[in-house]
Amino acid sequence: MDNNKFDVTVIGSGPGGFAAAIRCAQLGLKTAIIEKNKAFGGTCLNIGCIPSKALLDSSEMYLAAKSKMLLHGVSIDQNDVRLDLGAMMARKEKIVSKMTDGVKMLLASYKVETFEGKGRLKNSRTISVEKPDGSAIEIESGKIILATGSVPAALPMLPFDGDKIVDSTGALSFKSVPGKLAIIGAGAIGLEIGSIWKRLGSDVVIIEMMDQILPHSESSAAARLAMILIKQGLEIRVSTTLMSYEIKDGSVVLTVSGKNGAPEIVTCDRVLVAAGRRPFTEGLGLSEAGVEYDAKSGRIEVGNNFETGVPGIFAIGDIIRGPMLAHKAQEEGSAAAEFISGKFPEVNYDTIPSIVYTWPEYASVGKSEDDLAKAGRKYKTGKSQFGANGRAMAGDNTEGFVKIISDPDNDMLLGAQIIGPGASELIAEISMVLNYKGTCEDIAGTVHAHPTLSEVTREAAMDVLGRSIHSLPKRLEIRRGEL
Ligand code: FAD
Repeated sequence: MDNNKFDVTVIGSGPGGFAAAIRCAQLGLKTAIIEKNKAFGGTCLNIGCIPSKALLDSSEMYLAAKSKMLLHGVSIDQNDVRLDLGAMMARKEKIVSKMTDGVKMLLASYKVETFEGKGRLKNSRTISVEKPDGSAIEIESGKIILATGSVPAALPMLPFDGDKIVDSTGALSFKSVPGKLAIIGAGAIGLEIGSIWKRLGSDVVIIEMMDQILPHSESSAAARLAMILIKQGLEIRVSTTLMSYEIKDGSVVLTVSGKNGAPEIVTCDRVLVAAGRRPFTEGLGLSEAGVEYDAKSGRIEVGNNFETGVPGIFAIGDIIRGPMLAHKAQEEGSAAAEFISGKFPEVNYDTIPSIVYTWPEYASVGKSEDDLAKAGRKYKTGKSQFGANGRAMAGDNTEGFVKIISDPDNDMLLGAQIIGPGASELIAEISMVLNYKGTCEDIAGTVHAHPTLSEVTREAAMDVLGRSIHSLPKRLEIRRGEL
């Protein structure tokens, strides 16, 4: 029985869970982790961040061969550019396996005991694990960290059928390119998966109920990204609500209601429902253990130290408050482990970046102009366009900008929005300055190598300070806009 006694047991091996387990082990705690899937790594590694990025990169390669290479003077016989979707999917699976095996290896190297099976709380100190063969064992644990993540939210009006009406997992594994793909929801997942299939040849229509894509993002940046994606051929219908559907002659026929309220028909081969995700706590035994959760959202309530209302039970990642992001889950996992060890870590939610991996990418961190305007706070902005940057021109990636938002009283950074090449990497510099409560002067006063995309970040900071070298003077920009 002592074999199944631990200081800490983590349920769920996603980025939150495995980070928590490794940090506990680093801090000298005897740690176990329970995962119901054969492959560790959670949504992120198996069916989320990693497979989607693998397909985004592969589909971008295909598009480059079809159209972008010519711009660089590399001509390819278009009859020779063929898509091998099977090979593309196999590459994706190989990356996923490499990463999920890597997590198992990491856990083993830290001597974290791994249990394959479904974990269920019996009380605040005991977990039963139902193994894949149906047998069960019990684990006793001083502390328990719940990290069971999230699953796609289903629309009662358009239930998943695993074939024509699918979730993100289904849409990342299509065996053929859909002729026409409808996507319900213009969040990050909808836009990324829509971009993949558009590049591979589908007609893609994205249907969004709210009046902008990425409804939680800054409205002006979202509008600019929407324009770019429409130029790439994605059809985007905002302020459009799904009314009903039927399967007719092998097609899915959606009835939607657009801006003018009149019903319209969208006929497609497949539908991806990407209308959000919900915390996954089914079968976890929350009620038995007395763990409280919000009845509407399903999110578990935790304090600042990630402890639930039941002493000794902690929760992190997608099942608690905040954005559903892998790096947020990971940060909370490490922090929960440190709290358990008597330390006082801090997760700074104001500096968690958020990325949409379309092309160009959209990255944001901190406060947006919309947030500040709503709060009635004064702010200053500075902007620099990739179109004026040498490295962006060399790569034919001139679409987009960096915008930095600061406090006019003390120059402190408040937030940033980037649409452009490598935005996902460029945002790290800004997140760091934000985390250290730095200023625009900190960025503007740091020499950035030339020619690099990061010069655009520096130029935006210099623009806040009124000394950008590569942006047109404001009055000329206005004139250019008038022409
Ligand atoms: P999860 O990763 O969901 O892991 C939970 C684990 O718990 C799972 O392995 C599950 O099997 C296991 N589990 C559940 N119940 C039990 C139980 N009772 N017993 C044992 N095990 C159990 N985020 C980003 O930051 N960047 C991205 O680019 C990004 N792209 C995404 C793309 C897609 C298509 C999707 C779907 C998601 C994406 N996300 C992205 C979100 C990201 O995957 C999640 O925010 C992240 O995985 C949450 O981590 P987690 O540890 O909370 O839970």
